[in-house]
Amino acid sequence: MEKTEQRRVVVVSTGGTIASRWQGTGYAAEAHGRDVLAAAALPEGVDVRVVDLFTVNSSRLTTRHQLAVVHAVREALADPQVDGVVVTHGTDTLEETAFLLDLYHRDPRPVVLTGAQRPLDDPDSDAAANLHDALLTASRVRDAGVLVVFDGLVHAARGTVKMHTVAPDAFADPCRPPLGKVGFGAVGPLPRLPRRAPLPLPAADAAAPRVDIVAHHCDADPLLFDAAVAAGAQGVVLVGTGAGNATPEFTEAVARAVRAGVLVAVTTRVPAGAVTPLYTGGGAVDLAAAGGVLTGRLRAAQARIAVLAALLSAEGAEERTALLRDIVGPADTPPPGHDG
Ligand code: ASP
Repeated sequence: MEKTEQRRVVVVSTGGTIASRWQGTGYAAEAHGRDVLAAAALPEGVDVRVVDLFTVNSSRLTTRHQLAVVHAVREALADPQVDGVVVTHGTDTLEETAFLLDLYHRDPRPVVLTGAQRPLDDPDSDAAANLHDALLTASRVRDAGVLVVFDGLVHAARGTVKMHTVAPDAFADPCRPPLGKVGFGAVGPLPRLPRRAPLPLPAADAAAPRVDIVAHHCDADPLLFDAAVAAGAQGVVLVGTGAGNATPEFTEAVARAVRAGVLVAVTTRVPAGAVTPLYTGGGAVDLAAAGGVLTGRLRAAQARIAVLAALLSAEGAEERTALLRDIVGPADTPPPGHDG
């Protein structure tokens, strides 16, 4: 029988439900990476090294944690013997860390994020299957960037969000189908997506700029938007209604913030479709004219990561705005009339 080539994967363990156990009143991340790994069946021919980075529930993550993950992945890939990296992560904010990793990723070898919806100590836990599939994907694919592997599906990091609070098929891109499937010992085939040039890696201890998210809704006024700026936000994501709309009062607030050097992004609370400049009277047409950057298909949490990355990588309002536009990308800003 032909001997399969041995592959090496580094698992960066960060906590989440995949590392959670019952604490008497609720679940919390507790298990170390080796315990998480022990629960999974390793794919044949895959050797694993575990990096225990931290063990927290992902709703408690900060930019400092996320930059630590970015650096741990870069360090793992510095070893040419490594074929790929898996990051085990809480599902709550997995889409944020995945997208941040994607913005800095410059390697043909993949980075695969996974987690679980049912805790490690649950008899029906999805931890083992998801980790197995992530290891298989990390050991096999090339030139696919940063991926999310969950419930037998492979998703691109960009655009993929948590879609269900508790169901095992927790992740999807609301605008696009998954890249492929993983199961029965095979991955894909996966399409090759166009990738933007990676951003320069910020220092792990880079000062994290404050970036807030403010939502528009009926009755909303810009008080909370202005409060974010007054609190020192260097970036604000405005979550508009519909195709990315708010009010004339918000338009003025955006213009004031932009004049003060704050990076403003505009996304939408609608689950699918691109932010599209269709409406004036406080709509996306006016918010863009006031200096807000329309974030295409990026939902709020990933739009915030885009703003954060632009602030970390560029100096000066003009450069930051240009970089944010570049991160959002032309492919994510279809013209009016396009279905997004
Ligand atoms: N609270 C958990 C977390 O994000 C949820 C999960 O991992 O599914 O850490």
